[in-house]
Amino acid sequence: MSKKYFIKNLTNKNPTKDITEDDIKFKIPKITSKNKKNVKINNKIIFNAKNIPIIAGPNGVESRKLIFNVAKFLKKKGINILRGHAYKPLTFPYRSNQYLETKNEGMNWLDEVKKYLKMTIVTEVTEIKYLDRICQTADILQIGSRNMQNLELLKECALTKKPIILKRHFGASLRDLLGASEHILIEGNERLILCERGVVSPHTHRDTSRFMLDIQAIPALKEIVNYPIISDPSHASFWAPWVPSLVYASIAANCDGLIIETHPKPEKSKVDPLQPLNYKKFSQVIDMSKKISKIFKRKII
Ligand code: PEP
Ligand code: MN
Repeated sequence: MSKKYFIKNLTNKNPTKDITEDDIKFKIPKITSKNKKNVKINNKIIFNAKNIPIIAGPNGVESRKLIFNVAKFLKKKGINILRGHAYKPLTFPYRSNQYLETKNEGMNWLDEVKKYLKMTIVTEVTEIKYLDRICQTADILQIGSRNMQNLELLKECALTKKPIILKRHFGASLRDLLGASEHILIEGNERLILCERGVVSPHTHRDTSRFMLDIQAIPALKEIVNYPIISDPSHASFWAPWVPSLVYASIAANCDGLIIETHPKPEKSKVDPLQPLNYKKFSQVIDMSKKISKIFKRKII
């Protein structure tokens, strides 16, 4: 095939990372709608211009004991959104012989926590086949970075009408993220929250740090998107000592919510033990975040 043939057959006039006027008109009209979209979870939790809801928890729902321990701690701190994965994508299939996804059993523990402590539950959907079980318990569905462009999964999640957190893939442009968002909105589900969770960069400072939080994605998205934009410093930095600074920077960048991992004994976490904050550090971060958010006339909830 000649080079000429390739050029002649390009149908995409703007194969670019930049978001053009034409994109906004024809490719991403819903996510760029002019109306401000608040995402209401229940009467207490609304993602809007005033609140910064905290979504916290361990990585995996490893055991009943762990998830109750974390939920009780969060409840005491006044945090109502508990995040934990019973279905958990791992980068390597045999990385940890001590960790197995707890699947249905994990979902049952989340169910108990929800009933007993009245927590709002966020959990990740990795496969359409798990969706029915997840929807019985979860209040918010998370679509992980690796599934950002799994279009059938996006569609099926959208059709449940549950609120959705869509994470940006670490190699995706903002334009790609907005294209994926449009696949959810076109199904009539407007309870969409976008999440910045770090991008791949050749320079991530040290090898404990897999990704780099793209702080400027927050104001960039806010220029054209009227849906909540949240930040996940835990998965971006992969390194607990940097999480507090990135939480504060995200608040200053006008994020509409935060995902922060916490674990009673981070070093014992069966997945990604370097990234969760212990309870003492987590409490300090929440206290400081409350002060910082006041400066920006926002409220940590
Ligand atoms: C997670 O949220 O636990 C997760 C795996 O995140 P990400 O999809 O951003 O890597
Ligand atoms: Mn995780």
